Amino acid sequence: MKKDKKQEDQNIINISELGEFKLIDILTADFKPVLKSTITAIGDDTAVIDCGDKAMLITKDLLVEGIHFDIAYTPLKHLGYKSVVVNLSDIYAMNGTPTQIVVGIAISSRYTVDALKEFYEGIKLACDKYKVDLVGGDTCSSASGLFISVTAVGTVDKDKITYRKGAKKNDLICVSGNLGAAYAGLLVLQREKKVFMANPNSQPDIENYSYVLERQLKPEASKFIIEQLNEMSILPTSMIDVSDGLASEIMHICKNSRTGAYLYEDKIPIDPETISVAEEFNISPVTFALSGGEDYELLFTVGQEHFEKLQNNPYIKIIGYITNVCDGLNIITADGKQIPLRAQGWDAFKNNRV
Ligand code: ADP
Ligand code: MG
Repeated sequence: MKKDKKQEDQNIINISELGEFKLIDILTADFKPVLKSTITAIGDDTAVIDCGDKAMLITKDLLVEGIHFDIAYTPLKHLGYKSVVVNLSDIYAMNGTPTQIVVGIAISSRYTVDALKEFYEGIKLACDKYKVDLVGGDTCSSASGLFISVTAVGTVDKDKITYRKGAKKNDLICVSGNLGAAYAGLLVLQREKKVFMANPNSQPDIENYSYVLERQLKPEASKFIIEQLNEMSILPTSMIDVSDGLASEIMHICKNSRTGAYLYEDKIPIDPETISVAEEFNISPVTFALSGGEDYELLFTVGQEHFEKLQNNPYIKIIGYITNVCDGLNIITADGKQIPLRAQGWDAFKNNRV
């Protein structure tokens, strides 16, 4: 049978050229939900399943040695903790409460029982902190490296679900915490690894980098922000967690909401330690925030009526506003220039992370 031209083109495109999101689109194009209970399938931070009064949220993140983490500088306890947290972050991004996790691991012969016990100590810490139960998983061997697949489940009231879609013109764009720190931590770790490889007797120079290292190695999910918004009676019109960088996430919100956006460069919250690492590496700190990723902060939009409640909140910053789709995505620089925003965030197939 003759293949159509588009199909042929797709077959010869290199996966790394295609990128993660287009690949997912191609692979899942034929999967339209058929069950009434599937409220939302692919395309948001979690799937949403109808469960009567409430909805159930389900999400999975995969962490692969050599791609997402380097065992040379990643303590296994931290890695266990992070493997859980990155999944819970997606549940919070839907305004949900995580409840259970399932953990799959594939282990190479390099790992000892003690090493894996350490990894599970980290999982336990995260379960205790975020009050979720580990309820199952799967274990097998791997030809090389460690593979970690965590699935998280949560619940949310049906009328409180926050999707990536839903942002409206003139809504305020808000972000929690600060951005770019995890990427700063990654660069420091990579630099110190290189120094150590060149001179194994050297001591790592990490004393002045404790905040950014913690953000990279042991991130937290934004449970507190969800609670704060709830206490202030603010229901975001759209929300996403910042796993791939601010540029990529605002692009998802705008694409799903069919809007444009203006972001103010000088409003983007960046920690002083991140700024000093950016200076050391001769990269603009804003680039860290826009394209770094792994911050696990929440990016969300709210109606203008919430401005006063949020303007002095120490944990939430208003960084821009939503516009018509025809305005596109733009960033206003500190000196007032308007620049179209391009998403160059973390893409599983375009970068090699570690
Ligand atoms: P996030 O960054 O929030 O974890 P992703 O960008 O990884 O989300 O995924 C985007 C969407 O694509 C999600 O709905 C996710 O469940 C879905 N997805 C990712 N990979 C696959 C896959 N291999 N098969 C089916 N759906 C997938
Ligand atoms: Mg997400």
